[in-house]
Amino acid sequence: MHKFKCTICNISVKVTSKHTRIMCAACSSEMVLQPKTFKGGQIISLRHLHKVTQSSLAESLGISAGYLSKIETNLAPLTDVLIEKLGEMFKVAI
Ligand SMILES: [Zn+2]
Repeated sequence: MHKFKCTICNISVKVTSKHTRIMCAACSSEMVLQPKTFKGGQIISLRHLHKVTQSSLAESLGISAGYLSKIETNLAPLTDVLIEKLGEMFKVAI
C-alpha cells in the first residue's frame, strides 16, 4: 500500500500497487498511476552509444553526477522531467 495524491482535489488516497487506475473518493476523477521509473541500464546504454560521459550527461540534464550515478544504478527513479529531457537528447522514448 502506498499513498497517492489526487491531482484535482489534492486528497491522499491509499492504493495497492496492483491498481494502475484509481478513482478519487472525494471528487470521483479517475487517475492513472505512474509507477516509478527505474531505467538505469537503458541510460547507460544510451550514454555509451552516444559516447557521452556520466558527468557531461549530468551537466546537460542539470543534475549532479552523483544523482545520475544513482539513477544509472537504479538507486533513484527517473523523474518525468528527466525522461522528457533524455527523450529529446537521444531521440528515443524512455
Ligand atoms: Zn480528487
